[in-house]
Amino acid sequence: MRAYCCDHPGSGRVEGHQMADPSPGAGEILLRVRACGVCRTDLHLVDGELPDPLAGVIPGHEIVGEVVETGPDVPDEFRPGMRIGVPWLGFACGECAYCRRGQENLCPGARFTGYQRHGGYAELAVADARFCFPLPDFYSDVEAAPLLCAGLIGYRAYRRAGFGREVTIAGQRIGLYGFGAAAHIIAQVARHQGHEVLAFTRPGDEAAQDFARSLGAVWAGDSDCLPPAPLDAAIIFAPLGALVPMALKAVRPGGRVVCAGIHMSDIPSFPYADLWMEREILSVANLTRQDAREFLALAPKVPVRTETHAYPLDAANDALADLRKGRFTGAAVLVP
Ligand SMILES: [Zn+2]
Ligand SMILES: [Zn+2]
Repeated sequence: MRAYCCDHPGSGRVEGHQMADPSPGAGEILLRVRACGVCRTDLHLVDGELPDPLAGVIPGHEIVGEVVETGPDVPDEFRPGMRIGVPWLGFACGECAYCRRGQENLCPGARFTGYQRHGGYAELAVADARFCFPLPDFYSDVEAAPLLCAGLIGYRAYRRAGFGREVTIAGQRIGLYGFGAAAHIIAQVARHQGHEVLAFTRPGDEAAQDFARSLGAVWAGDSDCLPPAPLDAAIIFAPLGALVPMALKAVRPGGRVVCAGIHMSDIPSFPYADLWMEREILSVANLTRQDAREFLALAPKVPVRTETHAYPLDAANDALADLRKGRFTGAAVLVP
């Protein structure tokens, strides 16, 4: 099969290879990749910012694939030809204290797709059946790909911000810092649930601000500006620690600032007065299968529409470079 690998973390790119086709082990599924999203985490990986990746790992953790073959002990529901999605959480032990209390996202034995297991920048991929999901028919392969990380981890961040299923007070004001793939999905969910979205972008990025307004943001502006009125919560999707004190200044007493990225530059010091009054700073790590089930059921009801930019698999480095430079709005997706 053709695949792109992270041979040299720190090089900022992936290398193309012709490799032996993988085969599924016990409990695993062999998939033909139909589409695979490109995530900012993939940039952190090729830039050498994530510790201890699998040597020569194939990135890609938003895999939309078709079942080709199943290994021993895979449930009958996974039939050849069926379309499934493979997200970032590729394995959790199911036995540790975290797994038992519903925090499999924090499992010390967890393995992540496209980081510690091979991912979807390839024609074929192998995944653990217990961590694969059927995808809503509402979406094409390319449209579905960004739901699998931008959507799922964005949704977990939205829940951590105090929103989602249990919120009954509509009309809350939620700030999204960094209006890329995750924010463009969560903005639609927040609006659908009756909240106001305020979008903060790289200073001067009018294309991203226009994009946010087109998705119903009531306000869009530069990330170094304060919003017109205090936020109930902020989610920071951009990997810039300097946004944390800025977002803290933008939230009301009791408001939350959720850091949603896997990697962030250092957070500058700030006066305690900015945290005082029960403001909170939280991080989001990974996802659970429960997040996936909830979000994949919710997305077609909103309905969340994903704006995608398809690249051939062989243009993986172009997709990474364009994401790095902010050359598109929405999400990049590789198509083998
Ligand atoms: Zn991701
Ligand atoms: Zn565990």
